[in-house]
Amino acid sequence: MKLSTEEFRKALLKAAAELEQHKDELTDLDREIGDGDHGINMSRGFQAVQKELEAQEEYEDLGALSKQVGMTLIKTVGGASGPLYGTAFVKFAGAFKGKTEVEGQELAAAFKEATDGIKMRGKSEFGQKTMVDIWTPFYEALEQESDLNATLDQALADTKERVATKGRASYFGDATVGVQDPGALSSSLLLRSIVEVLS
Ligand SMILES: [Mg+2]
Repeated sequence: MKLSTEEFRKALLKAAAELEQHKDELTDLDREIGDGDHGINMSRGFQAVQKELEAQEEYEDLGALSKQVGMTLIKTVGGASGPLYGTAFVKFAGAFKGKTEVEGQELAAAFKEATDGIKMRGKSEFGQKTMVDIWTPFYEALEQESDLNATLDQALADTKERVATKGRASYFGDATVGVQDPGALSSSLLLRSIVEVLS
């Protein structure tokens, strides 16, 4: 599996379109087990990212691209998810610094670093029905070179059936079983867009 700067840019533009398309669904889910702002937050952030990526077609390397995306998300995405997604891209920026192409275990390691950043920032662990439940199996599948889309399908299905024990959703307790976590859904949309460009 290989990721290049131009392909990552394409993936992020695709992610922006996907998140926009799922904006209402993300908002509805967050209304059920949160505060109802996730769709709007993700839309605002990724529309800003889209604007920047369209204005600047070429980036020096994967690190420069990741850094700009991370900073934009931190500035524009509100709620709990802004700093979490921002942190993931800031971690990518570190891992991808000076590289125009990353593949194999190096790519897996970058996604592990991003996941560790999210866990640290959110003080969260796998199994709490958050975006970590999507990012963790994703980097493990990259490490093991297993099917990434099938992994995301399974991770989403498993996350949906868990009880939320972290963040605002945890106040809803057992009522969260059977309702998808909005951050898990938005993460899967982002990661699926990346899978599409991996060669
Ligand atoms: Mg929210």
